Amino acid sequence: MTSCTTEDCHRLTTLYLCTSCIVELDSLLEDVGALVRLIDGPIARTSVTRNAASSGGGGGHPGSKPAINLDAMLLKAWLCQLPARAHAEAMDNPKAGETLYMARIWVKQARDLVWGPEDHRVYGECGEELDPSGTQCDGQLTAHPDDLTVKCKSCGTVHEVRDILARLRERARGKPMSPREVREYLQQKARVSILKKDFENWVQLGRLRYVLDHVSTIGTGRRLYFPGDVLAVFEDMRGRRRYGR
Ligand SMILES: [Zn+2]
Ligand SMILES: [Zn+2]
Repeated sequence: MTSCTTEDCHRLTTLYLCTSCIVELDSLLEDVGALVRLIDGPIARTSVTRNAASSGGGGGHPGSKPAINLDAMLLKAWLCQLPARAHAEAMDNPKAGETLYMARIWVKQARDLVWGPEDHRVYGECGEELDPSGTQCDGQLTAHPDDLTVKCKSCGTVHEVRDILARLRERARGKPMSPREVREYLQQKARVSILKKDFENWVQLGRLRYVLDHVSTIGTGRRLYFPGDVLAVFEDMRGRRRYGR
């Protein structure tokens, strides 16, 4: 047993982070995919607002290029440097406490920037299917942070905020699943068949990151995998085989 590497946290752990710091880091990392996806909006939007204000709403000075919001761009780059999963970080990085420290700052800044600290949050496109051919509504969803539902102003569909956030996270990494579920999912969605034997091999080689169903310091719990990660390894292995690397 050693103590957690997070500053001012002295809890004992067998990893580099204690259980409560892993849970905290995990809840921060959970939003990173959605924030990175949505931060392009504020990068552009802030510059537009500034120009409109400086010209009294007249639409910007002729010849003045809208300044890109550099803070937002840097923040995006930093967010991309954060690890994908808290548990893996706690196992592998002797300085995991510093990661948590930076994640607290960056994710908070990004949440404020993307979702707004007070007035409204931007949740991205509506995405509701409008007709049987699969055309999706491109209405922008915005709501007060306290709202539990958002009504799309284009098509009128009412979304649960919880569902929208889950969808954004899912799109970024896929939902964690058991090995069997991942293989079935990829077979169905990507027409990729992965042998059970191959999957187990990749796990043994340490090529696949996983999440535990229940975070615990003794490392028990069902291992779940992200379909996106599995697909990446599959593509990589296929490439190696093809080029004989
Ligand atoms: Zn801790
Ligand atoms: Zn809509």
